[in-house]
Amino acid sequence: MKYCQRCVMPDTKPGVDLDHRGICNGCRSVEKKRKINWKFREKKLKVIAEDIKKKNYPFYDCLVPVSGGKNSWYQALITSKKLKLKTLCVVLGAHLPTYEGIHNLNAMIKDLNIDLIKINLKPSVYKKIRKKNFLVQGEPNWAEHNCVFSGIANIAILYDIPLIIWGEDIAFEFGGTQKKNYNAPNALSINKSDLIGNKSVKDWLDKDIRKKDMFFYEYPKNKSFKKKNIKGIYLGYYEWWEGRKHYEVVKKRGFIPRMKGPLKGNYIAYDNIDEKLCEINIWLKYIKFGFWRPTDQTCYDIWNNKIKRTEAVKIVNSLQNQFPEEYFKDFLRFHGVSKKVFWQTVERFRNKKIWQKTNSKWKLKFPLI
Ligand SMILES: [Zn+2]
Repeated sequence: MKYCQRCVMPDTKPGVDLDHRGICNGCRSVEKKRKINWKFREKKLKVIAEDIKKKNYPFYDCLVPVSGGKNSWYQALITSKKLKLKTLCVVLGAHLPTYEGIHNLNAMIKDLNIDLIKINLKPSVYKKIRKKNFLVQGEPNWAEHNCVFSGIANIAILYDIPLIIWGEDIAFEFGGTQKKNYNAPNALSINKSDLIGNKSVKDWLDKDIRKKDMFFYEYPKNKSFKKKNIKGIYLGYYEWWEGRKHYEVVKKRGFIPRMKGPLKGNYIAYDNIDEKLCEINIWLKYIKFGFWRPTDQTCYDIWNNKIKRTEAVKIVNSLQNQFPEEYFKDFLRFHGVSKKVFWQTVERFRNKKIWQKTNSKWKLKFPLI
């Protein structure tokens, strides 16, 4: 396990490779981003928007997936107010929404004065598939990620919406296994991102999870998009993508951060605060790959020149051993899993190549310095 010399990302993250300088792909993406002519890219986005408006679609010009988070509020702000596209927002209903999540989604719709469709998944199947994802692959949110991509794409097809506007291309912004040149990526292949891997919802079918219940989980075929001439883009290709900037913009429009301050392991209070079951999913990265929230958040701030590596090292080392206890009981209750089964499952996924037990405590073999 080695860490990037410029940020604090370890090479245990799937797809991360350190180059001859000891620098990770996320940092290399930042080097590329600094050379991009953003004014030119912005113009290209305007051209796309103008082309759509000329076609005079009866109802919606574009679909923006939203959560009530800072980034999706910002996306919908750009599409509806700056580009003046008639925007339909679609949200995947959170299993256990937080107060802040509900507030922010409502405030966003009021602020932007736009339509919203909410996809609520059949609870029995949703719970079952999350539980299986947790027990079998140590990744409770896997099906949910699938559902965000597939649900949105299916709505675009159902409602004849010509353009889906996603936020950032995670393969480019954060580094990952998806290697590609940075020519305007086709966001319709978002279902092949690292959040999904090469697994399919079909792998999870059983007597309780039936194919009939999988409509919103299953990504449409390419020909369905072609037939309706639907395109997909990442806003992050057309303008410098930065969560902190989005937060500053939408805060002035009514977005609220987590009222009790940052969650355990976090050092900012506005990241993924709309629902309660995501933190354990993120924390499991610590068990498997030796990093989680504090690394993600500090890397992001290093890439955007907000903090220095030495500060990030201190933050990560002081926060990464915390456990996301805030919604732990909710997590157990929601999935019908006992504490004992939870910890047994965690231990099944612990990566012994990077963890060692000293004085009956697990410690990373390769500390971040
Ligand atoms: Zn790096």
